[in-house]
Amino acid sequence: METLKSYNPFDGSEVGEVPITPASQIPDVVARARVAQPAWDALGLAGRAEILRKTTAIFAERAQAHGELMTAEMGKPLAEAVGEAKSLGMIDHELDEIASALQPEIVEDGRLRSTVYHDPLGVVGAITPWNFPMSMPAWMVLPALAAGNTVVFKPSEETALCGQAYADVLNEVLPPDVLIVVHGADDQGKALVQSDVDMIAFTGSREVGKHIMREAAGTLKRVVLELGGKDPMLVLEHADIAKAAKFAAWNSFRNAGQVCVSTERIFVLDSVADEFEAALTDIASAMRVGNGADEVDIGPMVNARQRDHVLAQIDSAVAGGASVLAGGTGHHGNFVIPTVLGNVSEDMDIACVETFGPVACVTRVSSVDEAVAKANHTHFGLGAVVFGEDGADTAAVARRLTAGMIGVNRAAGGAVGTPWVGARQSGLGFHKSPDGHKQFTQARVLTTAL
Ligand code: NAD
Repeated sequence: METLKSYNPFDGSEVGEVPITPASQIPDVVARARVAQPAWDALGLAGRAEILRKTTAIFAERAQAHGELMTAEMGKPLAEAVGEAKSLGMIDHELDEIASALQPEIVEDGRLRSTVYHDPLGVVGAITPWNFPMSMPAWMVLPALAAGNTVVFKPSEETALCGQAYADVLNEVLPPDVLIVVHGADDQGKALVQSDVDMIAFTGSREVGKHIMREAAGTLKRVVLELGGKDPMLVLEHADIAKAAKFAAWNSFRNAGQVCVSTERIFVLDSVADEFEAALTDIASAMRVGNGADEVDIGPMVNARQRDHVLAQIDSAVAGGASVLAGGTGHHGNFVIPTVLGNVSEDMDIACVETFGPVACVTRVSSVDEAVAKANHTHFGLGAVVFGEDGADTAAVARRLTAGMIGVNRAAGGAVGTPWVGARQSGLGFHKSPDGHKQFTQARVLTTAL
């Protein structure tokens, strides 16, 4: 049997392995999930939620072990990894929200009485990335299952062990074949997209998202695509500069910049640029870089390919006139040290292609209009943030940005209950929120005369 091995990006040691699912077997796997679906659906929203809630205690008990596995398999600092692992057990609110969102709705118009049902689609194929190797699966698998679908789940080949560990917990409480894991890389992903599944829930890169959309067109499969970004941050004249610099450092460097809503482009008003750059450079230079298992702020990149991609972008930006204010391309192993680049211009690769690495790119602007125009000059539209005075003026600037999620003096992600949504080429459809949960269902309208 062919296996997929995982290696620790810190020292190259082997972490473990999983059996690869031959792509030719995927149609049979999907057929098994289809056979299991009616009985799972028949349990009803409350019955399914009751079963899924049993995972809460198991995830809490295994949070430390899951965190350690994440750090070993993809490098993120242990504290961040354990935080991610703990979030897996916090599903009560989401299950309540799903149960309420998917209740049948009754609509009367004086002549007719209709009931709108939110039925499961059938079998959902879930394909996930490696950067949040346990929470990304949870964001798609849990709502798909709660809605009454069965799921065939393909974790990233970079973090197959984490994906398997997530599914193992669910499979301790689920009936057989309600959730089936398949392992492999793009061949297995393609086979799942081409199979008889009713929907593909995908989180990953824009390029693969486009491929999936094209392939899914053949049978008009439902798709939800959560894709990459090139998030801007605006720093306005009356911003609290210390706070803005602290945020920029956190959101450019956490998880070694391997975050879809990472701050990848910073537009700072000329009048505050010196102060902002100095504060950001100080924070970046003080960051502890090392093995994620030790007390560090930044671990290694997930693999050498990702490291090389980031280093090549830095080199090319410097060749094009960017200045290195902190960090740079000196490195060892899979590490990229937190880097602050000044004088970044729009024509550079690093200003338009997703970096997914620990680099903060600063561009000085002379007006708010220029900042807004440059921030919106992208095909992406995931998150954005604006730092300025508290109040209506800064919120008005934020409303001019074309991203899906915009934070004012804070991160982009919204309150619990709001969609996680990418605009433009950062996504198609979305999840989280009552409307997001409905994307895992088919609306059916049953009508009688009044
Ligand atoms: P990726 O697109 O390379 O791979 C994602 C998954 O797709 C993997 O499981 C991979 O095996 C599979 N795959 C590859 N080719 C395929 C194909 N042709 N058909 C079907 N499946 C295929 O992405 P990645 O490198 O794993 O993750 C990083 C990307 O994910 C970044 O662009 C990041 O911004 C994005 N991301 C987005 C969000 C969000 O919420 N919008 C969250 C996390 C990550």
